[in-house]
Amino acid sequence: MPLPKDTQPKASHYINGAYVEDTGGTPFDVIYPGTGEVIGKVHAATPAVIDAALEAARAAQPAWAAMSGTERGRILRRAADIIRERNHELSVLETCDTGKPLSETLVADATSAADALEYFGGLAGTLTGEHIQLPDGDFVYTRREALGVCVGLGAWNYPTQIAAWKGAPALACGNAMIFKPSETTPLCALKVAEILTEAGAPPGIFNVVQGMGEVGSALVTDPRVAKVSLTGSVPTGRKVYAAAADGMKYVTMELGGKSPLVIFDDADLESAVSAAINGNFYSTGQICSNGTRVFVQKGIKEKFLARLAERTASATLGDPLDEATNLGPMVSAAQREIVLRYIETGKAEGARMVFGGKAIEGDGFWIEPAIFADVTDDMAIAREEIFGPVMSVLDFDTEEEVLARANDTEFGLSAGVFTRDITRAHRMAAGFRAGSTWINTYNLTPVEAPFGGSKMSGVGRENSRAAIEHFSERKSVYVSMNPTEAPF
Ligand code: NDP
Repeated sequence: MPLPKDTQPKASHYINGAYVEDTGGTPFDVIYPGTGEVIGKVHAATPAVIDAALEAARAAQPAWAAMSGTERGRILRRAADIIRERNHELSVLETCDTGKPLSETLVADATSAADALEYFGGLAGTLTGEHIQLPDGDFVYTRREALGVCVGLGAWNYPTQIAAWKGAPALACGNAMIFKPSETTPLCALKVAEILTEAGAPPGIFNVVQGMGEVGSALVTDPRVAKVSLTGSVPTGRKVYAAAADGMKYVTMELGGKSPLVIFDDADLESAVSAAINGNFYSTGQICSNGTRVFVQKGIKEKFLARLAERTASATLGDPLDEATNLGPMVSAAQREIVLRYIETGKAEGARMVFGGKAIEGDGFWIEPAIFADVTDDMAIAREEIFGPVMSVLDFDTEEEVLARANDTEFGLSAGVFTRDITRAHRMAAGFRAGSTWINTYNLTPVEAPFGGSKMSGVGRENSRAAIEHFSERKSVYVSMNPTEAPF
């Protein structure tokens, strides 16, 4: 399929309701992962651009917060409608930005952004404080107030979704946002900003600035910023959290994982294989919550592996813009190198390669999905986040053993269990130290459910009512109904 002709954005940044360019910033190419072609160029934000975005957000936020929640919500819901109407065009752009196949982006990216805008648009008019009665007629009421200017920092795997998962709750609560996409995927967030303006968001409420880590860092340390929400790796999370702490800012950290997917002998085998495929190869394995440690009980191990290899062999790799394709390339040459190195490490550590794992030569950043069996807990491929299509299958005997091993990781983003034993399913879900868990499915993240990590996988929660707590603060107002006394 030919690439669309208009992938070059109108300008690099979106500030105060309009596109802004400053060619003084370091230029970088937008590369289509399907072929490696350059499909656009943007410039990193200069200090003047960063300052303009901060000033626009600071100036616009009080009036936005003063609007009724219902009015703010209406704008967010209108943006959701526009996104749904343009789903095809936005999905094509997401495919160009990330290389993820159109068969995925049509159902998972712009639609997820629209869900977030619709959900938080609906909540905006319901946000309230509370009334607390005290003795002698005194009482306290609380006001739920916006934090001010919030910064969103995005990873490259879900550029449209991440912009909306951060922007929608921030705006619903009356904040303004400056969003910095990953330099690898700069295109999609600009569209979210453009659509919010079209839906009626006042200028300055949602701004996008491009750049590498330095631009993110300049935003995080700026005293005008009240809150930082990052989706990224643990090393970046550490740096951003520390920088935000210095300014005593609120944070949400959505970081990496090495999540367990536990499959008991009594599981529905086809569903368990589907979950292992979805939880390792969807988006070419570039999903933070993936169940990359697949623990299979010994009784069904070989049957599971045989079926898994057979079904993985039927994956259709090819032109990401062809809807028949269901497995795309890696996002970049650099990420493909990281993944190939891990595959070599797995082989050197003695894991058994059951399927794939080779680079596919030619244009673009292609790689075969890889399945390792006989993986042990101490191997690097079982301990470190790879962020690519590499599945490690481990085996186990008992429930107690597998739960201890599943939790023996610094990460705690997600976990899943497959079993027909209802009490065991709930015991496992309760025992996992992870933010999101699934019983007899994997990786479903509806906007109604909280999403986020335990341990090194992060702090705070996105989505659901929980996100409101992370984008607003409560002020308490004590009201005396009695004379005020003093000791002298
Ligand atoms: P990175 O941590 O490299 O980058 C995340 C964002 O932070 C990018 O926009 C990056 O800019 C920016 N950044 C980097 N350094 C700094 C800094 N010092 N100060 C401020 N901002 C900075 O993550 P990736 O983009 O490589 O994404 C992959 C990671 O994201 C994986 O670990 C994955 O697990 C995690 N992730 C977590 C999710 C979750 O919800 N828990 C969901 C999706 C991914 P730039 O890259 O342009 O330099």
